[in-house]
Amino acid sequence: MIIAWLILPLSLLGIVLALWVPSLRLKRALARPFPAEWSRILERNLPVYPRLPAELRERLHRLIQQFLHQKHFTGVAGLEMNDEIRVTIAAEACLLILNRPSGVYPALRYIIVYPGAFVVDYEDVDEAGVVDPEPRELLGESWQNGKVVLAWDSVMRGARNFVDGQNVVLHEFAHQLDHESGYADGAPLLGGEHSYRSWAEVLGEAYEVLQESSRDGRESLLDEYGASHPAEFFAVATETFFERPGQMARHHRRLFETLKAYYRVDPREWLDH
Ligand SMILES: [Zn+2]
Repeated sequence: MIIAWLILPLSLLGIVLALWVPSLRLKRALARPFPAEWSRILERNLPVYPRLPAELRERLHRLIQQFLHQKHFTGVAGLEMNDEIRVTIAAEACLLILNRPSGVYPALRYIIVYPGAFVVDYEDVDEAGVVDPEPRELLGESWQNGKVVLAWDSVMRGARNFVDGQNVVLHEFAHQLDHESGYADGAPLLGGEHSYRSWAEVLGEAYEVLQESSRDGRESLLDEYGASHPAEFFAVATETFFERPGQMARHHRRLFETLKAYYRVDPREWLDH
């Protein structure tokens, strides 16, 4: 009987502790100063970092600390995990959420890093319904079950060249934001800044234009991979928005303004192309 009386208070205590201990640990992690070695890594690997306004750099530091506190990194295929890999990936992922109110990728738990491109078996179903495993080489992959997979050499190429509109970390983490709405459909969770109707109108139109230029073999500022699916379009447009903001604002005004309202930053303030 006494045990029965104890079950409820003990369960409540368990729930309180389960909620309270992680937030206390996070508070402690965020109270620590940002390590000087991490700043040196960012100065070395991410040319956009020293150009960020001081206020945004401070915010980035806190986001990186939270990201590294909450996410689990694993090196595979011989890659030994270290701070350089963790800090570089965390910084680029957190660039996307510098001003977003949605938390630090709450559904994401694991980041798996290969030394280079990795091969994945896709199931290719032909017209007769025959399933044929088809190996494909990938630089990154984003999963809805809380996992991102990246190739470290591509991460470094994308980070150090922040002007070509190609960045695998920005791409895969844009997919993570897209997943937050429950579907990988190119429409992430929107706050009060947009209606889904205007989002669908602006991105849908730009998607069709990219599909047309890709079909006709015409050059476009956005990588033609974005023409393969609306989710890929959002990820590719995100890469261009952060790496080539000036050109995007000139050539795709409405798309630029829509992404600027979503990400709540204007990368033209720290990049001049
Ligand atoms: Zn993609």
